[in-house]
Amino acid sequence: MTNPHDRSVPRAVRMAMPLARDVLEQIATQYGVCIHPVPLKRIDVQTGQVEIIDVPCGATLESKCPPCAKRNRQLRMAQCREGWHLEVEPVNTPDEADDYQRYLVELRADAQAWRDRADAAGQDTTDLDAAIEDLDEEINRAGMRGNVLGRISGKRSRSTRRRQDAPDLPKRQMTKTTLGRTFTGSDGTTYRPSMFITLTLPSYGRVLEGVPVDPDGYDYARAARDALHFSKLIDRFVQNLRRVAGYDVQYFATVEPQKRLSPHLHMAIRGTLPRAELRQIVAATYHQVWWPPTGTVRFEGDHLPVWSDGVGYLDPDTGEVLPTWDEALDQLDADEDAEPLHVLRFGDQMDIQSVLAGTPDADQLIRYLSKYLTKSLGDALGTDNPAQRQHAERLLEALRFEPCSPTCPNWLRYGVQPKGAKPGMVPGRCKGKAHKPEHLGYAGRRVLVSRKWSNKTLTEHKADRRTWVLEALGVEGEPVDPHRYVWRPVKPGDPDLDPIGVRLLRSVHQRQRWRNHMAQLQAQADGQDLSAIEGRAA
Ligand SMILES: [Zn+2]
Ligand SMILES: [Zn+2]
Repeated sequence: MTNPHDRSVPRAVRMAMPLARDVLEQIATQYGVCIHPVPLKRIDVQTGQVEIIDVPCGATLESKCPPCAKRNRQLRMAQCREGWHLEVEPVNTPDEADDYQRYLVELRADAQAWRDRADAAGQDTTDLDAAIEDLDEEINRAGMRGNVLGRISGKRSRSTRRRQDAPDLPKRQMTKTTLGRTFTGSDGTTYRPSMFITLTLPSYGRVLEGVPVDPDGYDYARAARDALHFSKLIDRFVQNLRRVAGYDVQYFATVEPQKRLSPHLHMAIRGTLPRAELRQIVAATYHQVWWPPTGTVRFEGDHLPVWSDGVGYLDPDTGEVLPTWDEALDQLDADEDAEPLHVLRFGDQMDIQSVLAGTPDADQLIRYLSKYLTKSLGDALGTDNPAQRQHAERLLEALRFEPCSPTCPNWLRYGVQPKGAKPGMVPGRCKGKAHKPEHLGYAGRRVLVSRKWSNKTLTEHKADRRTWVLEALGVEGEPVDPHRYVWRPVKPGDPDLDPIGVRLLRSVHQRQRWRNHMAQLQAQADGQDLSAIEGRAA
């Protein structure tokens, strides 16, 4: 073997040797070990023992390492399979929260306190607000429903005139079931058909290989707004679907990037509707965005509104206070001729398939549904294809000054104070997810699962797998007192935190032991390793 520290070996040869660290990552990946684990401090309140536990990054963040991405995808596939052709109504009982969920909620409480303190001291809370928003999403991702603040009240209910009309669609009497109809064949067999549909957004201009043929003629502004509000259109579609279907339709859906960088929707639906009706629902579904107009740029460059403590943002020339978010909405309500800022509809491209439970088709569609879950919408920015990269950059530019939410600093550009205005807001520098290259306008969830899809939450699916492994190893998952542990983040540079290489080695070692043990159990089960069984019997 050539020793890399042997200086007599030519540099070129030494450089050609694989980096030990890279090899470790490869092995870790092979063993399904997270390569970007998030360390958390677990404090045992009974014994005072402090332990650093590595939580797989896939459990905490959307940016996942390949092993976590793979595992999450498998879990999602299991979850999708579970509910698609359900034959009995699911019973939903909330589960006892697990350690990680409790940790998140505790962290959320801390973050709120930090934010309120900063706010009271007149400090900028943008970062903390963003962190809180992320945490709220993470809380949902970790398998908890709703928001820690409970139902968010104080929603505007002023304008009834602009309530979104129900489109002109047939309406069936609502029944309580979440199960689709069954059909009995001539031979007496019962069929329980379900559906798989793919919905896209409209065309913004001709594309070839995902790249606009005429970039200058491509409607980037519309593409940007459609992406920003896409999740609302999905909500609207589900409402209409249920109204027409006449039962509590359940779905498992994923939002995935198309080559042209627009989000589109794959949806597994329990039960079935006539195709023509489904097409009618898709065509009739729209969403109106009733936000203040953004047609006129009032402030840009160095000419920006100025902040005044206790007053808000002022016009830099006249000193006039800009309308607050609520005032701007009131103006909009009062204006009889006002138009919505944006109206979304689905495009003509759609795909509808009927699927029977347990067929190879069903399984293939589940794989298809989850195919791109590990990809981010903005992957094109990193490609070597210059045309694709330019396309992504143009879209990103179109998103730059587009308000992503009522709190978006971009409202200042159009002369409106963002909701919850605070000092330091600059149009074009919103920290919202939607503006980021990896999201390209769509900051919503990538997997959408209706509440009564199956009897299991994602956390339960995870727990299932864990229990299975533990049982197979003959280890019982010990019941833990829910108040026994307190979780805290580990600060970078914490002396108790071992270097990542050491932690990876440890995980790989543990995984290897498990694997060997599993292989042994398997062999015993197969009756191949008779000596092992005899040894045990002795
Ligand atoms: Zn990971
Ligand atoms: Zn924004």
